[in-house]
Amino acid sequence: MHEFSLCRSIASTVAQHAAGREVEVVRVRIGHFRQVVPDTLAYCWELQVRDTPLAGARLEVDHVPAVIVCRDCGASTTLDMPVRSCGACGGVNTDLVSGEEFLVESIDVASPAAADRAAT
Ligand SMILES: [Zn+2]
Repeated sequence: MHEFSLCRSIASTVAQHAAGREVEVVRVRIGHFRQVVPDTLAYCWELQVRDTPLAGARLEVDHVPAVIVCRDCGASTTLDMPVRSCGACGGVNTDLVSGEEFLVESIDVASPAAADRAAT
């Protein structure tokens, strides 16, 4: 299941940026071509962060549609299937505009005040 390796890589990126702070929300951008199943990703994330300092961090996924632009007619097409042909003229001479993203967009860490309350 490739969601597991995605989650492992998200968790290691987030742990680096959090630098020991408590993380509340993790936002990731994932392109359509990554073919990630949201439920599977959420499940893998839970398993991945369980018993780690990231436990309890919520994963928010921003899905990026797969979009191509046709070099022949200039039309842009949003793809449902990973077949890169132009929706206007049917040509396959296309450039991928989006859909292969996989990145950690931002993280929310607990505010220092909240962390203080938790510590006392
Ligand atoms: Zn075209």
